[in-house]
Amino acid sequence: MKMVKDMKLISIIVPCYNEEETIPYFYEEITKVAKQMKDCKFEYLFIDDGSKDKTLSILKEYRKIDKDVRYISFSRNFGKEAAIYAGLENAKGDFVALMDADLQDPPSLLPKMYAYTQEGYENIATRRVSRKGEPPIRSFFARLFYKIINRLSKVEMVDGARDYRLMSRKVVNAILSLQEYNRYSKGLFSFVGFETKWIEYKNINRVAGETKWSFWRLLIYAVDGITAFSTVPLVLSAILGILFCLISFIAILIIIIKTIVYGDPVGGWPSMVCILFFVSGVQLFCLGIIGQYLSKTYLETKHRPIYLIKETEEIK
Ligand code: UDP
Ligand code: MG
Repeated sequence: MKMVKDMKLISIIVPCYNEEETIPYFYEEITKVAKQMKDCKFEYLFIDDGSKDKTLSILKEYRKIDKDVRYISFSRNFGKEAAIYAGLENAKGDFVALMDADLQDPPSLLPKMYAYTQEGYENIATRRVSRKGEPPIRSFFARLFYKIINRLSKVEMVDGARDYRLMSRKVVNAILSLQEYNRYSKGLFSFVGFETKWIEYKNINRVAGETKWSFWRLLIYAVDGITAFSTVPLVLSAILGILFCLISFIAILIIIIKTIVYGDPVGGWPSMVCILFFVSGVQLFCLGIIGQYLSKTYLETKHRPIYLIKETEEIK
């Protein structure tokens, strides 16, 4: 066989949290695709994000039979964002792809994505054009979130964008140069720029296992996204404050005039209590917004590591 002189290495990063059921399907699928792409070499970098099932031992088994398989196992669950970061930091490839283990990010798209890199695109991203198979309420809030964040933030976030993407070494290095602790990858990818090609596909359901994202977890993720890429909520709370000052000023004037004209009849305390509740509610809400930013700043200043390794295929 004639060896292609300049064989590019593609790193496939796969964050795994309790994915014992899906990894075998994934491995079969990705190696099938890799065989089709004859002018590339591959490494499969699985990040075991503190799984409580047999994920790690399965990965070790694959490593025994296939030296292209690499793994990094975290000391506990650090979250998908940390897994992505660890993957990017440790990937050796000229190109790096991010993929979920559950085959919701079809590996079969990879040859097409790689073809675009040869046309000069640095960053090939994917988005779902349908949310079929997802609970309607979840789709509704997801859409709402994208509307809000795109209003509030200068960094554009595409509705339905997945984390599934193929990027060049340049893009990987750019992402790694963003040293923040509170990582919101969807925003970071958009922030670094580069020519991005979007590939669209219909939603695919998990091959096995269950989603790790409860509604509550998604809600917190959404708040993280907004606070990481916009300071507009802080401005809003200031505007709200000014608005309430104005309203109370007008109300005081009205009360003074009323007292002078009609005397001072006792009464109106129920409305008073309502107003009191409302205004203190608004105050607490604004304090909460400030608290969000303060907590983020607090965590950034600690400079804690984004993830901690328990073992890898090299270090045991
Ligand atoms: N994941 C992870 N750490 C977590 C949660 C999820 O590494 O704390 C991984 C998970 O194993 C999967 C990917 O992130 O490969 C996407 O998770 P999931 O399929 O549960 O999310 P969904 O596709 O439903 O948004
Ligand atoms: Mg999934």
